[in-house]
Amino acid sequence: MSFDSLGLSEPLLRAVNELGYTNPTPIQLQAIPAVLKGGDLLAGAQTGTGKTAGFTLPILQRLSQMAPAAAGSKRPVRALILTPTRELAAQVEESVRAYGKYLKLRSTVMFGGVGINPQIDALRRGVDIVVATPGRLLDHMQQKTIDVSQLEILVLDEADRMLDMGFIHDIKRVLARLPQKRQNLLFSATFSDEIKALADSLLDSPALIEVARRNTTAERIEQKIHPVDRDRKRELLTHLIRQHDWFQVLVFTRTKHGANRLAEQLTKDGISALAIHGNKSQSARTRALAEFKDQTLQVLVATDIAARGIDIDQLPHVVNFDLPNVPEDYVHRIGRTGRAGAEGEAVSLVCVDELQLLKDIERLIKRPIPQEVIAGFEPDPNAKPEPIQRRSQGRGGPREGGRAHGGSQDQARAPKAGNSAGQGQRDGRSSKPAGAKPAGHANAGVKAAPRRPEAAHAAGHAPAPRAKAGNPGALLGGKSRNDNGGARRDGMRTGGRGR
Ligand code: AMP
Repeated sequence: MSFDSLGLSEPLLRAVNELGYTNPTPIQLQAIPAVLKGGDLLAGAQTGTGKTAGFTLPILQRLSQMAPAAAGSKRPVRALILTPTRELAAQVEESVRAYGKYLKLRSTVMFGGVGINPQIDALRRGVDIVVATPGRLLDHMQQKTIDVSQLEILVLDEADRMLDMGFIHDIKRVLARLPQKRQNLLFSATFSDEIKALADSLLDSPALIEVARRNTTAERIEQKIHPVDRDRKRELLTHLIRQHDWFQVLVFTRTKHGANRLAEQLTKDGISALAIHGNKSQSARTRALAEFKDQTLQVLVATDIAARGIDIDQLPHVVNFDLPNVPEDYVHRIGRTGRAGAEGEAVSLVCVDELQLLKDIERLIKRPIPQEVIAGFEPDPNAKPEPIQRRSQGRGGPREGGRAHGGSQDQARAPKAGNSAGQGQRDGRSSKPAGAKPAGHANAGVKAAPRRPEAAHAAGHAPAPRAKAGNPGALLGGKSRNDNGGARRDGMRTGGRGR
């Protein structure tokens, strides 16, 4: 089925066509007509399914076809999209701009860690669509710099992640300030009891849709293990990159320190590489991501947390330099490649220390991953396993995100002077003078990393079976599909499943 049959207007079809989308993805096929009807929606879909266009396109259409309820001198905020991380907020707003290219609607993005003044200016000029993280939005609400009295549509994107990050109280505070009558769309990859409760309180007879988890079979992703000795991984990585002339390689390491070291070593090998992780400044991360996206940077080395939400079209290569401690992270990592129908390749460099981790991963994805020893890099058959440094960022240490636990908000991670491990300041309450960091328009200074692993985004936590009736209980009912996620959340606070 093509986009033409979904009831979208010509300017939207033109924009979609220019982006090279030929067919709607399954979530778009279901979500677009449902949202166009104007009712509430509960959607089970994870990132990579095309869910952003699934809600953005019909929102743009609705807003462009209906005049704001009360005509005033300035554009009222009519749609609000809440996301768990800055990165996702920035990406979603980019999509809003891209899909709305031929419409006269204005959007802006607001999150912490950057000056609030440019955001205030954008709001003053008038915007139709705001994409925000909960903390910074609340700051604006408290400072009365945003008027949401004419809001028509609310989207909670990646609601499960927001709850995992401890945003439930912020979300409730935001909801309390919105007008009662509005269209609500809730997107979540998993359905815990908390999500069920949120859906019950938020949604009115929602349409229910869901798409299969795309990573459970990972058919479009070619996975491979290269067994190698622990101290020859870097050499092997360089060899693979050079031999295959790989570009846009996203490499995962277990620790921030490991990411830094690897990026430095690759650079010494003549391969352009930068590391992103929670201790990097906002500007360093923004720069690294921009260079990676426009392909001036060959390799981006990232920790799991920093890589969340990076969406680069058809990322061709993902390398697990270290296997992750938590098997579900493997699925997230390889999900960075082969997005939305494209093919991808995920290779893992596995040393003797990681054989148990590999087993856990294979058990989770329910199949063995093909192994290929690279000539010249045969592992020593007599090598003895050594304990793995378990502690990765955010695991086993203090919880990284969520106001509820005293963490700073919305991924604000400006490094403390003289202390690379410094925690950031909470957005909007930064001691930095407001506007100290140039944000250009409100879309500048993007791409920060989330600071908290999203426990519930894990393979095996498949959305509920398709429900036909408009009854959230039917979709969400039965045993919580987040049982493991819950266990993992607890596990992470105490060091990750005891490992
Ligand atoms: P999302 O799940 O919204 O993060 O989207 C994942 C990726 O799929 C993004 O890079 C989109 O640009 C891309 N995408 C969304 N819809 C389509 C489509 N219908 N055809 C091809 N790519 C798409």
